[in-house]
Amino acid sequence: MSAKIISGSEIARTIREEIAREALRLRQEYGIVPGLVTILVGEHPASVSYVTAKQRAAHELAFYSVQENLPETVTEQELEKCIDRYNNDPKIHGILVQLPLPRHIHEQKIINAIDPDKDVDGFHPVNLGRLMIGGDAVKFLPCTPAGIQQLIVRAGYTTEGAEVVIVGRSNIVGKPLAVMLMQKARGANATVTVVHTATKDLAAHCRRADILIVAAGVPGLVKPDWIKPGACVIDVGVNRVGEKTSEKTGKKIPILRGDVDFEAAMEIAGAITPVPGGVGPMTITMLMANTVKAAQYAANIPLAAKH
Ligand code: NAP
Repeated sequence: MSAKIISGSEIARTIREEIAREALRLRQEYGIVPGLVTILVGEHPASVSYVTAKQRAAHELAFYSVQENLPETVTEQELEKCIDRYNNDPKIHGILVQLPLPRHIHEQKIINAIDPDKDVDGFHPVNLGRLMIGGDAVKFLPCTPAGIQQLIVRAGYTTEGAEVVIVGRSNIVGKPLAVMLMQKARGANATVTVVHTATKDLAAHCRRADILIVAAGVPGLVKPDWIKPGACVIDVGVNRVGEKTSEKTGKKIPILRGDVDFEAAMEIAGAITPVPGGVGPMTITMLMANTVKAAQYAANIPLAAKH
């Protein structure tokens, strides 16, 4: 048996078309253009490439977008001041500070400085609290977990009553995803187990999963015999394991590998996401969806699409 590949690139394209339609409706009916600022501190290559991709997506959707580049040496106060400027800019509905930040800057302090109503990354404590409450309290879902939920649902998997096992408990993936999938709601209502480095028998937990989500950051951690036959496997891991020359550009590009032994898992799983082309494109897409939502909330416009 060979697993079905869940293409994040294709699903992301479909959702971006929905977002584009919604953004057009906002412009035509209300004269509102969703505005996003991405703030980059320093020039770390991975961060530069993530911010570039986010700006490109915003541009393609005809958002009003601003790229703010700050030097590696920027102080915490200067960064807070910059955020505050955008907190008070009515053209900007969403503020994204690219993480990680340099060591001398307290990351949580910076996240706390973003207006929760412009926190399109969904990392502000107010939005995480709203997520915990669930239902109508939720404003912004963190982008990667939201993308994962969309992948599962749009690939046709039922979360209701499913055994979901999440490997990893980070604040940006594992923890918020567990909260989302345990809610009494559509695309959720699952029985969720979260496993981590202190878990005694990782393989045994994974083997129970109807839906196995792996966000550990360890290449090839999940072996084929950890997967229940027919399970839906979502590989969140993005690990740089080497470099190769791009056929298109002739430039050196990283070789990426997920947290799941992909080739072997293909023989056991019912469906699996590839790396790259799985969760990655979804994360950026959900950021765009959150930016449109932020513009709608700011103008008290009812949401047409709920991603
Ligand atoms: P993180 O903050 O490093 O957290 C990793 C989690 O995995 C931790 O909870 C850790 O457990 C657990 N873990 C690590 N090794 C493990 C092992 N051998 N067995 C069991 N649990 C283990 O990482 P993250 O930010 O969540 O990211 C995880 C991966 O997803 C990375 O590869 C990252 O690049 C990728 N990612 C991709 C996207 C995307 O858009 N595609 C977005 C975000 C992250 P402890 O808590 O016990 O240490």
